[in-house]
Amino acid sequence: MSRNLNSFVLADSKKCIGCRVCEVACAVAHLDTEIKTVGNMNFSLNPRLYLVKTPEITMPVQCRHCEDAPCLKSCPVSAIKEQSNRIVIDEAGCIGCKSCIMACPFGAIELIVSRQERVGDEEDRLRDEPEVVASKCDLCGGAPACVKACPREALQYVDMVKERTQRRIEAANKMSGFHNEFMVREG
Ligand code: SF4
Ligand code: SF4
Repeated sequence: MSRNLNSFVLADSKKCIGCRVCEVACAVAHLDTEIKTVGNMNFSLNPRLYLVKTPEITMPVQCRHCEDAPCLKSCPVSAIKEQSNRIVIDEAGCIGCKSCIMACPFGAIELIVSRQERVGDEEDRLRDEPEVVASKCDLCGGAPACVKACPREALQYVDMVKERTQRRIEAANKMSGFHNEFMVREG
């Protein structure tokens, strides 16, 4: 039995110039408060994709929303779930144990100070230990901010179902052309 495949964002290292616009766009897309001026910000920006620079390549890496997701399987409290063909983290259920970070082959998960903690009042922040939770790409609900923001079109939202159909059409066209060359024609 086949099933719908999860979508994901794919980066092209040949196009990426390492400007980090995607990281900023991702972080801003997940804020539930408006940034009025950068100088007055009292919280950190947490992107959910991570720019990798080596001598050979520059490209962001993020969650691939694996079909058989190791992070989901590794979570001891079931705080990672598959929802609407995406792998999502339930921050409220996360205990910050780091099992998912160790399990992810892409290094796509980070621990961040929870949003609830950051927006708490000053007294709470001083009294309580900061609460950390796992964070990763959630595909922005299907409209990825990083893809939209990249000035080089280095990021692509891959809808696997559409992609697969398109490839089958291309393959069929190619194969039919190839076959026709060898067809015995009348006359
Ligand atoms: S915005 Fe585009 S070009 Fe800039 S770092 Fe991200 S992927 Fe690379
Ligand atoms: S799809 Fe959304 S959550 Fe995922 S990396 Fe891009 S901006 Fe961040």
